[in-house]
Amino acid sequence: MVKGTTSFGKMSKGKTHIRCRRCGRHSFHVRKKRCAHCGFGSSSKLRKYSWLLHK
Ligand SMILES: [Zn+2]
Repeated sequence: MVKGTTSFGKMSKGKTHIRCRRCGRHSFHVRKKRCAHCGFGSSSKLRKYSWLLHK
């Protein structure tokens, strides 16, 4: 048993996120068909929140 890693067994049951085609991050949700990072899939625009504006 490797310290840490093996205790995350449930995490390997299927994948929830794959690589996003638009932002290239590993944030595209397979079942939701939407990127958690840029919002690709649900909207044609980049994911944007008011609390992110100052970034
Ligand atoms: Zn994305």
